[in-house]
Amino acid sequence: MSRDAAIGLFSGGLDSILACRMIQAQGITVLALKFVTPFFDDHLLARREEYCAEILRKYGITVQVVDCGLEYMELLKNPKYGFGKNFNPCVDCKIFMLTRARPMSQRRDTLRVIERESGCEDILLRPLCAKRLPETKPEREGVVDRERLLDFTGRGRRRQMELAEGFGIREYPAPAGGCILTDPNLGGRIDRYYRDRFASGDGRLRENDIRLLLLGRQFHLPGGHWFILGRNQQENDRIQALADEEDWVLTMTERPGPTGLARRPPLSLDQPAGDELCRLAAGLVVRFGGKKEGRGSRAEVRVRQAGNASKMIVEPLEDSRFLDWRF
Ligand code: SF4
Repeated sequence: MSRDAAIGLFSGGLDSILACRMIQAQGITVLALKFVTPFFDDHLLARREEYCAEILRKYGITVQVVDCGLEYMELLKNPKYGFGKNFNPCVDCKIFMLTRARPMSQRRDTLRVIERESGCEDILLRPLCAKRLPETKPEREGVVDRERLLDFTGRGRRRQMELAEGFGIREYPAPAGGCILTDPNLGGRIDRYYRDRFASGDGRLRENDIRLLLLGRQFHLPGGHWFILGRNQQENDRIQALADEEDWVLTMTERPGPTGLARRPPLSLDQPAGDELCRLAAGLVVRFGGKKEGRGSRAEVRVRQAGNASKMIVEPLEDSRFLDWRF
């Protein structure tokens, strides 16, 4: 272990791999932090150890997966610097990650008191473009040799690929699709979740809700009740896996079709209003379900809630009924 150590904010993309390797190449130990929220890289939580081992084996980088889901969800309620074009709070997001990374530094005692909220300007070093930026404290103090840093600009990958070649890295991830919060469609859904918290909700933010929000077709049933339909088998399986005790899970019994999930409907299936709501949801399942001889027709739907199951036969819901329910 070297005397000096650095924390790397690790996206998993080629630039973050190279940034870590450049600092390591100066004899500095790097701990790379991979932040995970329901909005990005959530799937890694199920395979943390495997992922860390893979990054170490492929790139020689020690990475730690940091789950900051609920804290990050709180941030989205009211980001101080507001949102970008969609539901992306980029300024607050970066401050959040830097602030989270800072207490984990092995050189905490040497760090300058945070000047402003991000507070890391003077110690935040971007190895790939450092020469285009003002000198930072680690460079001034000779911990990092500025001459061995780079002056990359723009988003072109050619120089990155040449640098990777120099490190003997031949296998690396393709450019990622981006952050869900910048997606106009999904960002819009998340925005609505925060504004309404849904009639079926109790005001609490839940990571599981966000996971559900990113799937399938989404509806607000009359009364504001939240309903989701899978679009393929993978989504159907995911919806089943995300179902909570209070949810209604709907499936067709005789033909293939989407799995439907009503999230925490505050109604019992025994009540007339609950039965009516469930019939609407079941009608949607049949509408998007498999056809009989090429035509939509009535079908049996199984409804499960907390281990209890019942069945109902319903007609497919007419499109004109639910056009306004989608979001
Ligand atoms: S694009 Fe997403 S992950 Fe990146 S800074 Fe903005 S909100 Fe954060």
